[in-house]
Amino acid sequence: MALDHVETLECTLCGATYDPDQVIYTCPNHEGVAGILDVKYDYDVINDQFDAVLDGHISSQWKYQAFLPVDTSATPVTLEEGGTELLDAPQLSETLGVNVRIKNDGRNPTGCFKDRATSVAVTKAQHADQDVVTCASTGNAAASLAGYAARAGLDCRIFVPADAPEGKLVQPRVYGADVLAVAGSYDEAYDLSLAVTDAYGWYNRNAAINPFQIEGKRTVGHELAEQTREEVPDWVVFSMGDGCTIAGCWKGFQEFAELDYVDDTPQMLGVQPEGASAIHDAFHEHDEIDDVAETLADAVAVGRPRNTLKACRALEESGGTAVTISDNDILAAETLLGRTEGIYAEPAGAAPIAGIRAARERGIIADDESVVAVVTGFGLKDTAGAKRAVGEVTDIKPTLDDVAAHYGASDGGVEQVSGSEL
Ligand SMILES: *Cc1c(COP(=O)(O)O)cnc(C)c1O
Ligand SMILES: [Zn+2]
Repeated sequence: MALDHVETLECTLCGATYDPDQVIYTCPNHEGVAGILDVKYDYDVINDQFDAVLDGHISSQWKYQAFLPVDTSATPVTLEEGGTELLDAPQLSETLGVNVRIKNDGRNPTGCFKDRATSVAVTKAQHADQDVVTCASTGNAAASLAGYAARAGLDCRIFVPADAPEGKLVQPRVYGADVLAVAGSYDEAYDLSLAVTDAYGWYNRNAAINPFQIEGKRTVGHELAEQTREEVPDWVVFSMGDGCTIAGCWKGFQEFAELDYVDDTPQMLGVQPEGASAIHDAFHEHDEIDDVAETLADAVAVGRPRNTLKACRALEESGGTAVTISDNDILAAETLLGRTEGIYAEPAGAAPIAGIRAARERGIIADDESVVAVVTGFGLKDTAGAKRAVGEVTDIKPTLDDVAAHYGASDGGVEQVSGSEL
């Protein structure tokens, strides 16, 4: 059998197991979609099949195909997602007073980390002869799904809150998807997409409930383990919405540690906006957990995260923790990252930088520790948000006088450089 490296789907609540060959989303023993499933592997089979050299050369996440829960006869639906560089960030490190490296996942094909998961989910949908894929999304998962559906020749119908940033509503339509802009929150769009999946039988890529989509997110953990083998960071920092991303990274990194490909694991630091802090609150055992989601970081504006359990387990097992930050902190982090390192992130992508600052202030991250921040989304996804941080452009007339009004009169001493010298 060609899926024999996947043992079973196991319920995170009651431990019941299900056949990985069927299309099943959650454990039916629990109300709603509470019974999130986890994919369990046979690592002896994987270890036998995996013969890639862990030398830091990663052209795409499919380097780790042996770890992905796809049938070995399936053809990957790929746009070369993953394989993102791990950058030194000397100026940012100096500002934050701690050694920081950046994993720049805004460079993925549709501009966001979610392509790792989408590539796996769409590969599975195509292999299972599904014609229509769907999801609910704060915006990025929808754009990602639309792109990969186009690549695979599948129809794509997506549910997005109507107030998502314009770029995220336009991008999936360029890829040919039907975008159903829901007059409501992400949480309402999510519930609707579940009802639709039940009623129409479309293949659902939703965060958390599709047990396979999170598995693609493990590859960021595999990559980080490979890229930091010589110097495993003390901390890896993510923003959290539904919580799948941080949980996926932890699972991937830990797998590589268990297989002795790397000899240490980092602590995971999860970052949430003050206005959408449900996982943070659950982790710190707050009595009352609000399901409001008010933040300009739309990609993590989640009131009822579907993967709180997996995310909290990742924080706990890794010895990590969660912090919250304000929207102003996020905007400051966005410009700080741009100005110090030339990396343009959308608000949720910059939030880890704000989280590092908060964790430094609270003594969670020490001076001599090392940190990797994963930037999950590209800045051009949401220019309206960034505009609040950078203010207006300087308007001038096309005259030297107007330039002089800003920089002072020219001293006339600059020699003209001729075209041939340029
Ligand atoms: C979805 C998303 C996240 C959060 O991922 P979860 O799995 O929902 O926790 C963070 N940043 C960006 C840019 C995203 O699109
Ligand atoms: Zn169960």
